[in-house]
Amino acid sequence: MIRAPVRWPRPSRLQATLEPASGKMADGLGALGLHTVGELLLHLPTASREARTVAALRTGEQATVAVQVQTISTRAVRRRGMRPLVEATVRDATGSMRATFFNQPWLLARYPAGTHLLLHGKADGRGGFRVSHHAPGTDVGGPRAGGEREAGAVPHYRAAEGVSSTQILTLMQHARGALADVAEPLSAAARVAEGLPDRASALAAMHFPRTETDPETGRSRLAFEELLLTQLAFLRRRAGRRALTGTQALGAEPSLSARWLKDGLPFALTADQRRAIDAVREDLAQPRAMQRLLMGEVGSGKTVVALYAMLRAVEHGHQAALMAPTETLAEQHFATLQRLLGSEPVSLALLTGSTSARRRRDTLGKLQSGELSLIVGTHALIEPDVRFHSLLVAVVDEQHRFGVRQRAALGDDEGAPPHMLHMTATPIPRTLALARYGDLDTSTLRELPLGRQPIDTQLVIGPNARRRAYEKLRAELRAGRQAYVVCPLVEEAESSEAMAPAEGVSEPELGQRAATAELERLREGELEGYELVLLHGGMRSAEKQQAMSAFASGRADVLVATTVIEVGIDVPNATVMIVENAERFGISQLHQLRGRVGRGEHRASCFLAGPPAAAGSAKLRAMIEHADGFRLAEIDLGLRKEGELVGTRQSGFRQFEVASLPQDELLLERARARAEAIVAADPQLLAPEHALLGDELLERFGADALEPIPA
Ligand code: ADP
Ligand code: MG
Repeated sequence: MIRAPVRWPRPSRLQATLEPASGKMADGLGALGLHTVGELLLHLPTASREARTVAALRTGEQATVAVQVQTISTRAVRRRGMRPLVEATVRDATGSMRATFFNQPWLLARYPAGTHLLLHGKADGRGGFRVSHHAPGTDVGGPRAGGEREAGAVPHYRAAEGVSSTQILTLMQHARGALADVAEPLSAAARVAEGLPDRASALAAMHFPRTETDPETGRSRLAFEELLLTQLAFLRRRAGRRALTGTQALGAEPSLSARWLKDGLPFALTADQRRAIDAVREDLAQPRAMQRLLMGEVGSGKTVVALYAMLRAVEHGHQAALMAPTETLAEQHFATLQRLLGSEPVSLALLTGSTSARRRRDTLGKLQSGELSLIVGTHALIEPDVRFHSLLVAVVDEQHRFGVRQRAALGDDEGAPPHMLHMTATPIPRTLALARYGDLDTSTLRELPLGRQPIDTQLVIGPNARRRAYEKLRAELRAGRQAYVVCPLVEEAESSEAMAPAEGVSEPELGQRAATAELERLREGELEGYELVLLHGGMRSAEKQQAMSAFASGRADVLVATTVIEVGIDVPNATVMIVENAERFGISQLHQLRGRVGRGEHRASCFLAGPPAAAGSAKLRAMIEHADGFRLAEIDLGLRKEGELVGTRQSGFRQFEVASLPQDELLLERARARAEAIVAADPQLLAPEHALLGDELLERFGADALEPIPA
């Protein structure tokens, strides 16, 4: 074995610059970020086009064929200003045809008889083929002479002005030899255990597939690697944080918090709340900063857990802060905390953008002196002039609405980082939590507090059902209750793909118009005589405030709104919701919307209105059958896997380049387990078999990813 010839990959060769045929092509490649051979090899096909044989071409259909030139000539075109056509007789194993190239007379010299070509274009049904893209090629991927196969898959690449997918394929064929220089970051043991091909083979399988399954085999190997690297980065970050001591441990017997839990609460904790509180207690007892994610949908009682953590800081003579993404939420938290604190003598203040200058000065002074123990606020809490005396517990609500920096900025001026509790009301299944929050410890509040009444949910299809829904709504209004009417963001005529905007994106005007129009219509129609208010994202903050307070105080009977009501409205007296064009919303959004009703003592109903086709919607059926947000999130994931894509918001999981969730759920689980094993055995990635993995981490996540973990 020692004498056996070996060859090693030389990754440095992958740095060789590409040599495009023209300046235009160079620009195109540059636009795609492709400068070196190595970068080219990582430009993965987005799909594969079925390569057709000449015999199988269908009239009028775009197709790719792999052929050989038999004869080639030019023919003058009568129209003035047109350059001569180039016509070639080309053939493959199944037949021949006449290919026409427009406006490129130089091809006559470039493609002499005998040249192998990849042609993309359209057959005209009369033995002719109008070429739109072409490139010299071998028979790679295409049908073989001798007819071994009828047709094969031709990879399709993201292209750019100046360089077509077909031309990229040709470049790829030239670069094929460089695959031998691709380094293998996975250890042989891991690769064998996972049953995955090596990296070079995976790339070859994607660029030069020989079987139908090749592209997917190659893709899943590369996806595994990507998932493994992100999980390694998460786990190393977590391990690094855990090793970082210095944050004060709250180990002493709880005093205030224990008394509060025992006597101060007007209700018994749910089992999930108790578990979460226990987990927080253990986190806080460590001399390192807690980093816990508390997941629980609206109404699951997260605030109690947050207040417990905050009181632990207070009883040890420190401070705690709760930051929320909007003023409304901050105000609500402030009210909830005041209520939950009851008679406990704890100083609490609110700080938002609307806090008056005088009050703000006063509050900041008390924060700095330590006179103030608890503070609730918005981004106003992380402005540079906010100084804490001793912030030890920081809670971030709706944490995904803040950037990493913003979250970190809370309590940044202290030496050691504070204990952090992140909260989210968006229930997501475990795998997605892993992919997103793989470096956090998590607690979940799954069961809703006792006494919550299920919301009667019904589909509303057709005029009769609609009339009954509004009858019910009016009956509730007469009984003194209130209602929501929610309009979708997009009008009927819009593309069915269009959907609710992603988080943070402002609503399209269309939705605002739809809500405005609906309000006018209802005022004259079904809800004549009732007090209606409008709420949408295009309104000024003061107007919104006004609308919300009119509704919250009961002055308005019905709130007609776009999805802005999804977060932040808590009106227990509201008992009916009608969601127009419910089929346009995603499950999670519908669930969040529905959570706006059923928050008080009265039984609530939710009507999901849609066109006749909505009757068969698995999504809407799930809404009718299930109330548990986590269960719905799982169903949602399952549906997405089956391809019931419901729009941008719902497919907001495009965090990876190769991997895609939920399809790669199993791969993710495997990658997580593998990453855990690697970090457990070799946390610093010092073993020789992990060296290349370390290089990859460095490459992808920068120097931080490899920071040594303090022992
Ligand atoms: P969220 O998870 O949405 O932040 P909150 O913490 O605001 O939920 O709780 C919602 C409501 O439920 C509050 O009024 C709170 O006082 C109440 N609550 C919380 N826990 C319980 C419980 N175990 N039993 C009864 N009511 C509870
Ligand atoms: Mg809350």
